[in-house]
Amino acid sequence: MLCHEVFAPHRRLHALPAGISLARGLRIRLGGGIRVNEDQGLTAGSCTVATVMGPADKATSVADDTAARSAASALRQASHEQIVFCHDAPSGLRAIIAIYSTALGPALGGTRFYPYPDEAVAIADVLDLSRAMPYKSAIAGLDLGGGKAVIIGDPDQIKSEALLRAYGRFVQSLHGRYITACDIGTDSADMDLVARECRHVTGRTRAQGGAGDSSVLTAFGVFQGMRAAAEHAWGSPALAGRVVGVEGVGKVGSHLVGHLVADGARVVIYDISEAAAHRVLARYPQVTVAASRAGLISGPIDVYAPCALGGAIDEATVRTLSARIVCGGANNQLARRGTEKLLAERGIVYAPDYVVNAGGLIQVADELDGFSFERARSRAGLIFDTTKKILTLAEQDSVTPAVAADRLAERRMTEIGRLRGIWLDG
Ligand code: NAD
Repeated sequence: MLCHEVFAPHRRLHALPAGISLARGLRIRLGGGIRVNEDQGLTAGSCTVATVMGPADKATSVADDTAARSAASALRQASHEQIVFCHDAPSGLRAIIAIYSTALGPALGGTRFYPYPDEAVAIADVLDLSRAMPYKSAIAGLDLGGGKAVIIGDPDQIKSEALLRAYGRFVQSLHGRYITACDIGTDSADMDLVARECRHVTGRTRAQGGAGDSSVLTAFGVFQGMRAAAEHAWGSPALAGRVVGVEGVGKVGSHLVGHLVADGARVVIYDISEAAAHRVLARYPQVTVAASRAGLISGPIDVYAPCALGGAIDEATVRTLSARIVCGGANNQLARRGTEKLLAERGIVYAPDYVVNAGGLIQVADELDGFSFERARSRAGLIFDTTKKILTLAEQDSVTPAVAADRLAERRMTEIGRLRGIWLDG
């Protein structure tokens, strides 16, 4: 196994391998031989590491390796602790693990298996997704850091036992700095396979002692966050009689519909997959299906719940949105930084995504202690209080809820993360 590592940014190469050019401040290790150079004034503790792993015969030159080039470029901007590229050509595995922070503990985050058009898009996605994870752990009160992983490719075409077990070996090679779980394109049965090579995996099937499908408590947490936002906006947490638009009725969205229907809300759904919409309709015939996303967004809804992919809330969406509350399960809902201000300007209450969708993380984190559904559910129920606290803080401090949530999470990361500096024997 050959391992290329690119460390940033404290040292400069003085002996670049032929044909390799790297940005100032990167250090590279080829096959274990380290080339290091003079100090460039790194701030202690801000080291970033990228690792490219693969069979030696397939990775003889970093210069030829697009992954390494993309990593070097992404690393210039990334503030992640570690980014790991995993290649196993025979099984078709191409994966990227991004660890954003281990300030509060090992970085836990799911593995997204997705047909990214190219590696650069996958890198951008994993860097983005992993950034929110330590905040999600911190705000959920967990002693965990945050990271995320992506496997590049169409799971329907290339997912196999060999690929997942190869991936498990790469996760294991990080010795617990990263703990994996399910995300879009992976499920609990996949985690069972990963677990055959790796101890640092959660979200396994209940039959294997795991927490099972995390979307159950993700949806429950979103529902609690929505009730808290309703209380903030309307003085009562009840959603009975309110119209809730759910975009994306996969695992999380469909469970959320169940909670909403049970609470007496009127639910409108939209999904690009007709099959997904039909599955929900078959279970809850009282649900209405919007003909298009635009129809859902601009239609008369009180709450908009983005439960598909990230980036759902952009300027155009904010302009046309009829809802008073945005609260959904999708990660990274805001298309860009600043969109939360546009929501606030329009008087729309935004329940920050990583606050309300932390139920799944709470569910799989519970597996690390020997899974108890009741314990995890009761912890996920606290999302109601956390959301209320954040909305109140935002109002008090005249900031958006997104900023209030970040501040609260960062405070915990600093206050609790600092405690590791108190030396303990053993
Ligand atoms: P899923 O794949 O089961 O469901 C996603 C659904 O969205 C699918 O039905 C898909 O057809 C639909 N969809 C995709 N693109 C769409 C579009 N442009 N418009 C409308 N519908 C679209 O995934 P999931 O597990 O339900 O996750 C949904 C979201 O919640 C993701 O953003 C995920 O990252 C996030 N999330 C999931 C969990 C979890 O525990 N599963 C936890 C936290 C966050």
